[in-house]
Amino acid sequence: MTEKRNIAIIGAGIAGQEAASVLAGLGYKVTLLEKQERMGGMLNKWSKLFPDFSSSQQILDTVQVSANKNLSVICNADISSITKENGRFELSDNSSLKVYADLVLLATGYNLFDATLKEEYGYGVFENVITSVDFEKVHKSGKKLTTLLGKEPRRVAIIHCVGSRDAKSGNTYCSKVCCITGVKQAIEVTRMWPDCEVFNFYMDLRLYGSKYDSLYLEAQKHHKVQFIRGRLSEISERQDKGLQLKAEDTLQGRPLRMNADIVILLVGMEACEQNADLCRNNTLDLDENRFFKSKNIHYARNISTQPGIFMAGSCICPMSVNETLESSRSAAFLVDKSFRSVQVEE
Ligand SMILES: Cc1cc2nc3c(=O)[nH]c(=O)nc-3n(C[C@H](O)[C@H](O)[C@H](O)COP(=O)(O)OP(=O)(O)OC[C@H]3O[C@@H](n4cnc5c(N)ncnc54)[C@H](O)[C@@H]3O)c2cc1C
Ligand code: SF4
Repeated sequence: MTEKRNIAIIGAGIAGQEAASVLAGLGYKVTLLEKQERMGGMLNKWSKLFPDFSSSQQILDTVQVSANKNLSVICNADISSITKENGRFELSDNSSLKVYADLVLLATGYNLFDATLKEEYGYGVFENVITSVDFEKVHKSGKKLTTLLGKEPRRVAIIHCVGSRDAKSGNTYCSKVCCITGVKQAIEVTRMWPDCEVFNFYMDLRLYGSKYDSLYLEAQKHHKVQFIRGRLSEISERQDKGLQLKAEDTLQGRPLRMNADIVILLVGMEACEQNADLCRNNTLDLDENRFFKSKNIHYARNISTQPGIFMAGSCICPMSVNETLESSRSAAFLVDKSFRSVQVEE
């Protein structure tokens, strides 16, 4: 390579960091921009990962970008605009930061569904209703999950598809990772409290990944987790702060009521609201689910609708960790290929 070319990567989750390491290693000048104080994205929130209970921190340590003369990292840089002039991209945040680049890689990830929007489930009102994200926080702290009053839960219900596959929430797509998260968290609850009954309420179980099915079988066989095909309509709170669930058992075709001490809502993955800002002033497009639109979903998933802008990881669609890392390496390969002036099919 005769001339160093500049690449700006927006987002320093695992997708942005993996792509940054590969591209800086190839000799490109990379600027990695992160809106938070620290890198790592959503993995900072998770304790143990499905499907093998490996530690999230271990993945963060493995992926973390190392100091490199080709790589600069700027944190607290919340990029809100991308424009192009005289063949160069200009990226800016809401302060005076300006970054110039020959090529841009979007790795902005996703947002978590706000469970308070499902008012009928009482999140934020009933304190024994928590989300899968709250559960990760408890697990990460090394404490055991207890009720509001600090008691051992005798029964925990885990609710699938909260804010996904739900027209009322505005998200009709499947978030892909929450079924297996529900299986993983059910096992973790029984490991904390072996006598606790755990019920997972699902619409369909979507366990598409390698080793997901065996974890599901393990949950039933060794941890006695019960799976009920049922749609939850409402949660109410009793005087003693216990919870009552109203659902329809869709296999038996009859209404169902159940008491539980704690309910865990499996919140889905949503596109970032800021995606729309990044599309202003250029030809970037969003898809019908508000994630960045690929030029072609079969052979050009990492290529956006704006020439010179590529995409990696869960800003394209919901993805697990291994899919995200594969997507990042694929994006890095296409970026390198485009710099080498090999015709990339668009
Ligand atoms: C509840 C839950 C549990 C999960 N558990 C697992 C698991 O056990 N195993 C597994 O394989 N997967 C799991 N996942 C999926 C996993 O979180 C994702 O695969 C992973 O986080 C994707 O990484 P990413 O870098 O694409 O996105 P993110 O982790 O979202 O990182 C994106 C980064 O971009 C930054 N950013 C966004 N916009 C801007 C901007 N405009 N300017 C600058 N920076 C910006 C963000 O601050 C963030 O740091 C889980 C998902 C959920 C919802
Ligand atoms: S992965 Fe499972 S819980 Fe998540 S949206 Fe899809 S079907 Fe629902």
